[in-house]
Formats: sequence, C-alpha cells, structure tokens
Amino acid sequence: MEFKELNIMHSIMKALSEEGYESPTPIQEQAIPKILNGQDLLGCAQTGTGKTAAFAIPTLQLLSQEKQLQSGKKKIRGLVVTPTRELALQIYESFCAYGKYTKLNACVIFGGVSQKPQEVQLKKGVDILVATPGRLNDLINQGIIDIKHIEIFILDEADRMLDMGFLNDIKKLIALIPKKRQTLLFSATMPPDIANMANSILTNPAKVEITPVSSTVDIIEQRLYYVDKQNKKDLLVHILKDKSIVSAIVFTRTKYGADKVARQLAKVKISAQAIHGGKSQGARQTALNDFKEGKLRVLVATDIAARGIDIDELSHVINYELPNVPETYVHRIGRTGRAGLGGVAISFCDFDEKPLLADIEKLIGKRVPIIQEHPYPLVNNFATVKAPKPPKPPRTKKIASKKK
Ligand code: AMP
Repeated sequence: MEFKELNIMHSIMKALSEEGYESPTPIQEQAIPKILNGQDLLGCAQTGTGKTAAFAIPTLQLLSQEKQLQSGKKKIRGLVVTPTRELALQIYESFCAYGKYTKLNACVIFGGVSQKPQEVQLKKGVDILVATPGRLNDLINQGIIDIKHIEIFILDEADRMLDMGFLNDIKKLIALIPKKRQTLLFSATMPPDIANMANSILTNPAKVEITPVSSTVDIIEQRLYYVDKQNKKDLLVHILKDKSIVSAIVFTRTKYGADKVARQLAKVKISAQAIHGGKSQGARQTALNDFKEGKLRVLVATDIAARGIDIDELSHVINYELPNVPETYVHRIGRTGRAGLGGVAISFCDFDEKPLLADIEKLIGKRVPIIQEHPYPLVNNFATVKAPKPPKPPRTKKIASKKK
C-alpha cells in the first residue's frame, strides 16, 4: 500500500516524502483511515511500529481541514499526553516534521525544566500540545493552559503511565477535557486498569493491534554471553573493540550502574555518557544529541531514561544487566531494528540472572543463541549469596553503662 491510498492531504504527503517514508507501516495502514473517519481508536502497539505517525498524520489532517477559528489566538485543539520527557520531545518533533507544510503549530511541555519558556510559547497560541502528565496538570491548575477546546485527545503509552504512577493525573485530566471529542489510546499491553480506563474514555473504538510483543524481535539478531558479574566490564570493552559497532545503547538496571559503566568505558577511551532519571533534563538531552550526531559511541541508559529514545539506524543494543521484567527486554532490543531495519541485541547473563533469562525466553518463545567463544566465560556457577549481616550486639541499657 502507498500513503496516497490513505487520502492524506498534499501538504502532509510532501513532508512524509521529505522524511523518506515510502509506504505506511501496518499500524499506519490500519489506524489512519479510522482516525480520519472520526472514530475513537484503541491501539495495541509499541514504539518502533510507527505508531507516532499513525496518530500524528490524521490528527494534523483533521485539525487542518476543519474551519479555522476566524480570528483571535489559536486554541489547543489537539492534546497528546505521554509518560516521559524524551517521548514528548520526540512526538513533538514528529508533529513538526509531518506538519511543516500545514498552518498548524505544536508545543511541547514537560517537567524538570523552567516553566517560563513553555508559558511564553503557550501564550502565543498553540494548536497541538504534547505534554507529560505532571507539568500539564500543573499548568492547567495555574490557569496557563485551557483545555476546553480539545477536539482530539491522544493518550500514548498508557501502560507506562500506569507503571510510572500517572493514572490519577490522567483521571483528573479526563474529568476536565470536553466530553465531545475524539480519543485515541495507545498501549503496548492491556493490563486490567488500562482496559477499564479504555472502556470509560473511548466511545465505540476501532481496535488496531500490531505485532504481539513476542514477534517484534524477529528481525533482530540476538546473542547471549554467559559471563561472571565481575567480568562484565571487560567483556563489554572486548565487544566494543569491534569497530562495526558504530553506536550502541548499553542498558543497566540502576542509575549507579549506568554511571559506573560510562566511567569505565571513558577510562579506556570509548566515548560514552550515561542517561538516567538522576541527571538534569539538559544533561540528558545533550548526551542524546551527541549520540545522535555520532559524537558519542555509547549511551549507557536505564530503562526509564531510554523509554522513547528514537535513533534511526541504531545498530546495537547491549543488555549489560538483564531486566527484571521480561517485556522490558523486548522494549530494550526494539531500540534497534526500527521500522523494519535489522539490528543486533547482545545480552550478558551471570549466574544470578539465569531465572531472568528463562522468563525472557518464555516470553519471546525461543532460546537466545549463545556465543560460546569469548575470553570471559562464566565460571562461577553458584549464586552470589549476600553475606549475612553480623548479629546486632545486645542492646545495653544506658543505665548499665553508667559508671557506678
Ligand atoms: P515510532 O513507532 O513512532 O516510534 O516510529 C519508529 C520509527 O519509524 C521512527 O524513527 C519513525 O521516523 C519511523 N517511521 C514511522 N513511519 C514510517 C514509515 N511509514 N516509513 C519509514 N519510517 C517510518
């Protein structure tokens, strides 16, 4: 199928062809006509499927076609709520790219940075707002954002919102936006809380389900290295000697771990930076830009920080530590293999992580191929048991220690 069969307006088509998009991805093929028809939509899809364009293209088209408000300031008519700052920025950039030949404008707001510049932008008038829930509610409460004119409301990555504790913020927001609106809800998984919310906010939604979590990994080459915990850093350096690894995201479970790995790489002159929730938005954005521009070879990230990172043609993902939740493995390795491109996902597994690997293999329905030949094979085939804390000395009553 081609984009033109989806009846997309000329100004958006022009922008899509400049982006190099030749044909719609499956979710775009299914969702765009339904959204253009004015239907509510429940989309089961994760990042990497092209879901941003699936909602951004028809939103831009619907809001452009409608009679423009004749005079006065622009009013927010499209609202996208998404869990992380990185995702918000990316969605905003997509709206700007696809909508550059329309008359619409977009604005992005998120927390962790000063609200002043966001306020200035909002005051000028905005058609489409992309926001994270906390800052959005803040600015609504301060009377800076008026959501009375919302016509299209998009809730992105609803399951992540739930994981990150945003459900109440979302409920508050839904109570405030106009009942008469078109609503699009996207979620990679459908836990009961999200299914209930979907039932309450969507009216006769069209349902679009793309690639169940296990099959998105098929185009990605997966490799497994069994290695002892203390040798992981050396194995990482060994693997990165391969110059064909142009850019890689290394995943760690903790902020501390991310910083440590980045430091260790820097010591051996491999350009690396860590991004995680403990860093300022500015520092995260600089690291991300440097990485995108090829100034940094390795980005070491925790899962929350990496959420929504969209880098075209990322060749390698390295799981320095396996995630506790098997679905996270699929999200992580989906950073490569974007829009049908291949990629390589390398995972380290120490003895303690074997149960995590078993969960992952159960989810993806196959064994991850093992790389047998490498300089740091697993030798410690026993669990690391934390040394028990020494027993506390018996509490001596103060009175007993007083000199007699
Ligand atoms: P998303 O799932 O929205 O995060 O999109 C994943 C990646 O696919 C992004 O880098 C998009 O720029 C890219 N993409 C989206 N739609 C298309 C398309 N129709 N053709 C080529 N690339 C696309």
